Amino acid sequence: MPHLDPEELSLLALYDEWDDPAGREHLLDCPECAADYAALRRTVEAVRTTPDTSHLSVPGPGVWAGIHRELGLGESVLEDPLAATAADAPAPGDVPPSNVVPLAPTNRGARPKGGGARGGWWQRPGAWLATAAAAVLVVFGAVWTFNRPPQPQELAAAQLTPLAQHSAAGSAKVVAAADGSRSLEVSLDKDEAKGYQEVWLIAPDLSKLVSLGVMNSTSGTFQVPAGLDLSQYPVVDVSDEPMDGNPAHSSVSIARGTLAS
Ligand SMILES: [Zn+2]
Repeated sequence: MPHLDPEELSLLALYDEWDDPAGREHLLDCPECAADYAALRRTVEAVRTTPDTSHLSVPGPGVWAGIHRELGLGESVLEDPLAATAADAPAPGDVPPSNVVPLAPTNRGARPKGGGARGGWWQRPGAWLATAAAAVLVVFGAVWTFNRPPQPQELAAAQLTPLAQHSAAGSAKVVAAADGSRSLEVSLDKDEAKGYQEVWLIAPDLSKLVSLGVMNSTSGTFQVPAGLDLSQYPVVDVSDEPMDGNPAHSSVSIARGTLAS
């Protein structure tokens, strides 16, 4: 199974109840994805914890501007939430506002009017969630960039079409790993071999051929010999081989196609 993609990992980390049994199964088996998931969970736990702001000094206006810019947040949250809190503070003699409770849902839906309105966007749960999600994605991007090797690069691909007496079709592609090694990934929609399937790379005039190996199911990945010039062997062939101990091509081909980059 391939690794979980960034979106899937983010959803799993954000929502405990996210219904993705295959993804959670993969996390149990794959140390790489599990490490990414753990990093994301730490971030989620951090942003979900309601901060105790009673002992904190108020940062300058540049701090929120920086966060806003870094996360690419929208115009609706441009206002510095802590500056608004200062503006909300009661003037001497005013009755203290009883409904200003951080994160209380009483202000949900209230739209700030002018500078003195109570109920800034940060008091709406949805805004916290959106900000938390944005923070998770930013952290994820960093984790992903630093932890992941370069993804395999596709060098060439071929459509495989059936030959006489057969109907199996599929595709093949050559991918290069980060270390430069190449492999051929073959997949057919069915296994039509009476004996067993063997995968070959063949010269255009069928005069020379290289066996890449046996394919016991409808798909397989095969190492391409280092130094093999694919332009000399561009034809991907899947043959039906009898169990006769003869290593040569049986001359019964099931499907075939030519690699193009
Ligand atoms: Zn994985």
